[in-house]
Amino acid sequence: MQARRSPHLHVTAMMALLAGASGCVGADASQGDKSAANENGEASPLAAAAEGFEAGTKLAYAAADVTLGSGTWNMDEALIGTSTSDVKTGARAARIRNSGRVTMLFDLDSGAGTVTIHHAPFGSDGSGTWGLFSSDDGGSSWTQVGATVTSSPGAFATATFDVNAGGPVRLEIRKLDGGSNRINIDDIEIADPDGGGDGADGGDDGGGGDDGGGGDGASVSVHTTLGLPTPASTDPDDFLSVKNGYVISYNAGRKVANWVSWELNTSYLGSTDRQDDYRPDDTLPDGLSQASLADYSGSGFDRGHMCPSGDRTLNTSANSETFFLTNMVPQASNNNRGPWEDLESESRTIARSGKELFVVSGGVFTASSDTIGDGVSVPDETFKVIVVLDAVGDGPADVTDSTRVIAVLMPNSDSAIGETDDWHDFRVSVDDIEAATGEDFLADVDPAVQAVIEARVDDQ
Ligand code: MN
Ligand code: MN
Repeated sequence: MQARRSPHLHVTAMMALLAGASGCVGADASQGDKSAANENGEASPLAAAAEGFEAGTKLAYAAADVTLGSGTWNMDEALIGTSTSDVKTGARAARIRNSGRVTMLFDLDSGAGTVTIHHAPFGSDGSGTWGLFSSDDGGSSWTQVGATVTSSPGAFATATFDVNAGGPVRLEIRKLDGGSNRINIDDIEIADPDGGGDGADGGDDGGGGDDGGGGDGASVSVHTTLGLPTPASTDPDDFLSVKNGYVISYNAGRKVANWVSWELNTSYLGSTDRQDDYRPDDTLPDGLSQASLADYSGSGFDRGHMCPSGDRTLNTSANSETFFLTNMVPQASNNNRGPWEDLESESRTIARSGKELFVVSGGVFTASSDTIGDGVSVPDETFKVIVVLDAVGDGPADVTDSTRVIAVLMPNSDSAIGETDDWHDFRVSVDDIEAATGEDFLADVDPAVQAVIEARVDDQ
């Protein structure tokens, strides 16, 4: 189960690793091999192969081969960064710019299972996107594994991919946005295929196949551990965007998300104030239409958070990330400031009791839904699905017939909902929300379990 621990716990683990290998911080090139041994020595119990970029030197972006701890790699529009602006573990990390690539020139003969990679923008650079690719023909042809990842400013985030390929296979990391923002990559860990015990494979349980869901949400993000309500896609009306603190399926035609999905437990809760820095989402590709602040101004609707500001109070960057307009829908104030907010607060109360919550939220739309500003769709209703699991790190296999699921549908017009209304009165079944939205929630949960818990209305 530990592979599904929260990003914050990953950061904690990385800090511990850094502290344990403190002798390698600031090491010069002559100490590089020792650094690699420290870093990879920590990783080896979990990983069939690992690369921390500690053992090589590459100072220029121009394409060249470099021999590292795991083997020889080609780095094109990429170098091994050692500056204080490089986000890194140990003394070095890969740094990629433009449409750069970091490519294995060797095969993993025993194949690759789950691959985890730490990533963050370099220095004060803005966000960028990248992907993991695999090749089973010695690098002649490549296939992207899982979804495109967005790196947002801040400390390392962890991306997890289920490669699940027998050998021989090799891997490549490609920067995909083509822009000048640089991205640091470090601490690549590659498990053997079906390497039991890392827990990430739990994401496959009941996923995919004929249940209509995206399947394998855990390989996209911890925030979609229970599945993707819609399959991963780069369709402009169903654009999957993975952020540090949540995952969205963005709909450029409506200029709001189809859904926003996030994990909630005590590791996300601190005392950081609301940043209130409402703004368009600078992590989305330029070609996707977005709402502007002006669209909401004077509209009569609130900028209603889906992943709440109050669920991300550990630090300013985590809180600020909730103020992207892509995490908002035009929300009636009686809804937003009344029962909706009361349920948000109740969720945090449950989380503080030690539970693991997975939440998906969004709007219900019809052909006659209103718009505000320059074509920002107003949902007819807002929905939320909250799955309450007993322990942090629980996943699809821990969801049973008796798991508590709170699902609500709230009218999104002030004439149809009161600010003092009780959120409990808006409870429905998950099946009701699936029927209204066409999404498949809990897609990676055993279909037989979904059938039971999605038909039930919470009564606690
Ligand atoms: Mn709100
Ligand atoms: Mn479902």
